[in-house]
Amino acid sequence: MHRSFLSHDSLPTRSMQHSHTTQKLDQPTRQITVLFTQYLARFSLLGLLLTLSACDGSPPSSQTQSSTTQPEVVSEETATPSTRDRTTGSIAIASEVRPEQPIALSIPIDCQLGDDCFVLLYPDTDPGSGIRDSGCGQQTYDTHQGTDFAVSSLADLDRGVNVLASADGTVLRLRDGVPDRRLRTTAEIEAIAEQGIECGNGIVIDHGNGWTGQYCHLAQGSVAVREGDRVQRGDVLGRVGVSGKTTFPHVHLTLRYNDEVIDPYSGQPAAAGCTVDRQPLWSEAQPYTPSGIVRIGFADRPPTIDGLWDGEFTAPQIDTKAEVLLFWAHYYGVKAGDIERYRLVDAAGRVVTEYEQEIKANQVNGMSYVGKRNTPQNPIVPGIWRGEYSLVRDGQTIAREQAEITVRSAN
Ligand SMILES: [Zn+2]
Repeated sequence: MHRSFLSHDSLPTRSMQHSHTTQKLDQPTRQITVLFTQYLARFSLLGLLLTLSACDGSPPSSQTQSSTTQPEVVSEETATPSTRDRTTGSIAIASEVRPEQPIALSIPIDCQLGDDCFVLLYPDTDPGSGIRDSGCGQQTYDTHQGTDFAVSSLADLDRGVNVLASADGTVLRLRDGVPDRRLRTTAEIEAIAEQGIECGNGIVIDHGNGWTGQYCHLAQGSVAVREGDRVQRGDVLGRVGVSGKTTFPHVHLTLRYNDEVIDPYSGQPAAAGCTVDRQPLWSEAQPYTPSGIVRIGFADRPPTIDGLWDGEFTAPQIDTKAEVLLFWAHYYGVKAGDIERYRLVDAAGRVVTEYEQEIKANQVNGMSYVGKRNTPQNPIVPGIWRGEYSLVRDGQTIAREQAEITVRSAN
């Protein structure tokens, strides 16, 4: 059996940092505010390539504040949807040589990056067992070959998000029929890997001049092309799903030139590193944005990271009889030392919570929340509440969002 670039696999372990703090607000009303944080922290990665030994891909600065485990949150794989995959042994010996025939790519998803979608993971540009994304950051995992264009939750998929051809080409091969199931546990991930369907429903397109694009994790039954079809850039290939080895809703695009993985953010072989002469292949500038907010919202019970990816905790209204009113943020690419700022204002315009805390460890994605308990002395008042959330790095606000929720009287 050939040793192929498909043979390695990532097996994230789960580590959750959990701090549970009760904070008394310095206000005459003596309202009790609860602050919970949950961090999805790190990955343990298994590399089976001869040149890539098994390693722990967690950021060096990750803290081990807690050993509690929970289902992992970010993982997916890049296997092509065919047994006819070619092998490649070039990953560890890539040099900085620009492909002779350039290609211009558009993003493979029908959404606005930074608005209703975002890049969660970049190609791993470290040829060894370390991780280094396109911008020399940590938004990747060991051996990740593609770019992951994500939407914020499964709820986004209900409206149907199209996967688009990033360039003209011909459909080489495809697969459909893999169920949409967002993976949560290591056992589930291993099972998918054993079946060899890491890419899920996917398509490989020959983009010409030695270039190919591999599109993964499409929704079951959505593949809209056939082998041999000619496609043009922007054509609909199918819909974003959660098939194959994926723990979050996204389309994965691996770009190859003569079978070598290319980082579209540099135009260079991914294995050449992140400090290369950069000439991005995107037809429109795609800023490297390794950190940001996935989503914010309100809940009347403690959210979980799985629930957030599943699209839960988004009730448009909360009842005045709720035990708590929580305001949460789901974020990605935070770094140790980043500051989270929360502000929660009740329907009467009173600041219920104004709180900031420092992120303790780098996280590919994670969540935290603040909130208010409902007490007879200080009930959750009806009306429109507002939450504001900011991420601050080195004194600069790098992401900020606000949201409102209606608290309705329960009679
Ligand atoms: Zn991916």
